[in-house]
Amino acid sequence: MTGAAAAAAAAAAPLATSGRALAAAPPAGKQAPGFYRYKVGDFEVTAIHDGAVTRPVDGYVKNISNDQALAAAESAYFKKGHVTIPFNPLVVNTGSRLVLIDAGLGPVQNVPAGMLVANMTAAGIDPKSIDIVVLSHLHPDHINGIKVADGGLAFPNAEIKAPAPDWSWWMNDDNLNKAPEGMWKGYFQNTRRVLSNVADKITRYEWGKEVAPGITALDTSGHTPGHTSFAVASGSARILVQSDVTNIPHFFLRNPDWHVAFDWDPIKAAQTRRKFYDMAAAEKALIAGFHFPFPAAGYVEKDGAGYRLVPVAWSAVL
Ligand SMILES: [Zn+2]
Repeated sequence: MTGAAAAAAAAAAPLATSGRALAAAPPAGKQAPGFYRYKVGDFEVTAIHDGAVTRPVDGYVKNISNDQALAAAESAYFKKGHVTIPFNPLVVNTGSRLVLIDAGLGPVQNVPAGMLVANMTAAGIDPKSIDIVVLSHLHPDHINGIKVADGGLAFPNAEIKAPAPDWSWWMNDDNLNKAPEGMWKGYFQNTRRVLSNVADKITRYEWGKEVAPGITALDTSGHTPGHTSFAVASGSARILVQSDVTNIPHFFLRNPDWHVAFDWDPIKAAQTRRKFYDMAAAEKALIAGFHFPFPAAGYVEKDGAGYRLVPVAWSAVL
């Protein structure tokens, strides 16, 4: 056989014959760093993956049957009987300020989350360079990441901003004492554990005002009393950072009237959901979703009685 014919024969041979060589490189065994950039006018936005929690469907949605919830999980191809909830904080570089919106779950043993600092560093952003951390609400998956494992501040030079109505609600001792045991009492205790000893670093913000240049706080209460979304605007460009207007879109965009277990006022949360997505759909606004699948951005369209998410396509061009 000539050299050319041998090469052609080798190319045409089934893959199995070259399997030995292909298998020689050891598998990486772990994911590449999770960050994704896009522009909003002159601003540069970096979505940073903090990780995800996989939990049983059981107890996740309050006002539907377990069979309905299981069917929804199956149609999203989750691990049987489970849902996976990702966490995706956002860094906005406004040109004058580096702003982090939400801080993720922080380090928890045996939970594949708390990767914000590592992935931010991989993205070339030094945690010490963050000027402002804006918290959308005071649930653990949004605030715990302000601290590293030894209890120190993950973003030591940042001013931390919390929504005033959430601060008043979660830091109120009457509310703590009246809260049902379990998850709800746990939320109150967690807020104190994470925020009390750094309270002097935390300022409170109001809706309808800028929390940083070009970033305006929007009242999207319901999920919590002070739950906040943000309009990020530069020039004529604008995106909506929804925070937790929905938990995972597979469930609650398709079914906006379903009540996730973590909603403080589920009726109001559902009203907020419809109002917010009707606005976003009419505006054709890009939405950044903390609990959307990575890269956690997409467009929302009306679809039957609910909505559907059209995720952005990964692009190498900003
Ligand atoms: Zn959340």
